[in-house]
Amino acid sequence: MTTPYLTIDLGKIEHNARSIVELCGRCGIEVAGVTKGVCGHPGVAKAMVRAGVTAIADSRLENIDRLKAGGVDTPFMLVRLPALSAVDRVVDSVDLSLNSELAVLDALSRAAEKRGCIHEVILMVDLGDLREGVWPDDLPTFLAAAIELPGIRIKGLGTNLACFGGVIPSEDNMARLVELADGIEQKFRIELELVSGANSSGLSLIAAGQMPDRVNHARIGEAILLGRETTHRDPWPGTYQDAFTLHAEILELKNKPSSPFGELGEDAFGGHPGFEDRGDILSALLNVGREDVDVHGITPIDARFSILGASSGYLVIDASSAAGGVHVGDELKFSLNYSALLAAMTSEYVKKRSHRQG
Ligand SMILES: *Cc1c(COP(=O)(O)O)cnc(C)c1O
Repeated sequence: MTTPYLTIDLGKIEHNARSIVELCGRCGIEVAGVTKGVCGHPGVAKAMVRAGVTAIADSRLENIDRLKAGGVDTPFMLVRLPALSAVDRVVDSVDLSLNSELAVLDALSRAAEKRGCIHEVILMVDLGDLREGVWPDDLPTFLAAAIELPGIRIKGLGTNLACFGGVIPSEDNMARLVELADGIEQKFRIELELVSGANSSGLSLIAAGQMPDRVNHARIGEAILLGRETTHRDPWPGTYQDAFTLHAEILELKNKPSSPFGELGEDAFGGHPGFEDRGDILSALLNVGREDVDVHGITPIDARFSILGASSGYLVIDASSAAGGVHVGDELKFSLNYSALLAAMTSEYVKKRSHRQG
């Protein structure tokens, strides 16, 4: 296998997904597995489906197409707001989308009508995280108009927290979501089948038994992929954190000073890196860089190695603690956070190798 490459343990992903589906199931919450962090990798989605997720959710239509072409057979949901320019593709590709703009709903409705079908939507409300969503005060007017659109069916109300503003799901903001859903049902005499309140940041609330009963849908990505809740990035009990491993190869290994010399200007990315003079070190150059991963999001699995920095194609590592035990051509392994995983999955230079044990 040429380096760099990413190994994906589908057994671990299935295990993680199963443990989260079970936890949520005990609280009456169904789970959509979110695959945007792996660019709609069909093997990963299939592992989630085997574990019992009721739908696969992704933010990009290209990823949904990849999933379908890869033989993933499940309902699909689009978790990024549809672009007005993409409504026809949205209606063709997914059963359900998240929405917050009337102009888009109107266009989706017309696209669905053209096809003689109904497109289902979850309306998103902003409860303070300040990413997508209708402002709560505007919901009644919004609903009054949305409900008249013949090509769409309002399947639920949802909110997304943590991703942008870092707002932690709480009994308060979840109670507000339920209150808004109840209010809509009464005022407009419709039934909201889904109240979609949680992503990976909501798992602690669910596990503590503090998620209101009416919240019955969650959209979970990171906790399944990387085994962490996302408010403090603590490992989630009963899940693996190491389903993904990045492998890169040592291209050069030499004793060099720990601090550059000569007059110092900007680095390749306009930064002014700081160096601590620690005398000579054993410096290893690896064939992975900013064109492959978020280098701030990777950690060498062997603690004898530490990352000094990176350019587009190189990772510079202090290998002094492993002197004598490493050689040019050796592969080093790294764990990844969500940001690094997303970049590595997106980079065509990082080959993907999935396997399934157990
Ligand atoms: C990405 C995303 C999710 C999944 O979030 P995780 O933190 O990975 O669980 C859920 N909902 C929406 C709207 C998203 O964009």
